[in-house]
Amino acid sequence: MSPESCLNVLEELYERQRPLAEGKVATYIPQLAKANPNHWAVAVCFADGRQAAWGDTDESFCLQSVCKPVNYCLALEAHGEARVHEHVGFEPSGQVFNALTLNPRGLPHNPLINAGGIMCCSLIAPEKPLHERFELVSDFWQRLSGATPGFDNAVYQSERQSADRNRALTYFMREQGAFPPHTDLEATLELYFQSCSLTLNARELAVAAATLANRGVCPVKTSDAGVQEAQLAPRTLRDCLTVMATCGMYNFSGEFAFRIGLPAKSGVSGALMLVVPGVMGLALWSPPLDNFGNSVRGVEFCRQLVERIPLHVFEPR
Ligand code: GLU
Repeated sequence: MSPESCLNVLEELYERQRPLAEGKVATYIPQLAKANPNHWAVAVCFADGRQAAWGDTDESFCLQSVCKPVNYCLALEAHGEARVHEHVGFEPSGQVFNALTLNPRGLPHNPLINAGGIMCCSLIAPEKPLHERFELVSDFWQRLSGATPGFDNAVYQSERQSADRNRALTYFMREQGAFPPHTDLEATLELYFQSCSLTLNARELAVAAATLANRGVCPVKTSDAGVQEAQLAPRTLRDCLTVMATCGMYNFSGEFAFRIGLPAKSGVSGALMLVVPGVMGLALWSPPLDNFGNSVRGVEFCRQLVERIPLHVFEPR
């Protein structure tokens, strides 16, 4: 399919999901309950750097769980796969994202649910002060998206004030001996809440997704030398895309892999990052969520996308 026809399909699918009225915005973090359910944005960035966007693409939203694959990458880059996976598993949990449950080894099921996201935070430069750890995360998003992320302080405050479940999960993990020795639990939780409160708009998130689609090279940014540099080791990227493909869509991950067959990650702000390896990154944002916690418009868009363009990774070619 030519890039022009692909853009026509994306625009048509953006329009088709706009009238959808199903779903409810997340309310368990009080500040998220204020989200406007009419917001809807679609943005694409191709591996060659071309971009297009439709809808509320200048509005920023907090990343929420979309921060998790990136924190996983940071942990992998620092420690390697073997060490990281001493503390977190590989399997979809089949449970809601914040379930008070660990795998049979007493570890989070995977890096993309809350327990695993918190665990990855514990592995990001634990020896450094918190402000430097936050800067590492924020700078990494900057390198992936080519944009400086914002920070939603209201969401951050709201989330840390209503974090009983995440605290319970964290202390449960400590009781099970899941964390590396000497982990500062409160600092770990702070980094987790702060990562979830980073903001980007859909255009910027699409560029980050395109970096994951483009061997880790940000398609819209060149280094001073004019040479495009990979922001991630090939193995980190492979690991990250694999867990996104198997665990990125809460307990809808199996059906998403079956029907859509692409690495993705959603968050309770209604953000959804979709990676088409070698081709493009997409960002979809619409706050009303289905029962799994995924954006209703976002998932429907993905479903129709692979019906129109054969992008499923197992599509016979
Ligand atoms: N910050 C949210 C929480 O921990 C992230 C949830 C999500 O987007 O899945 O509850």
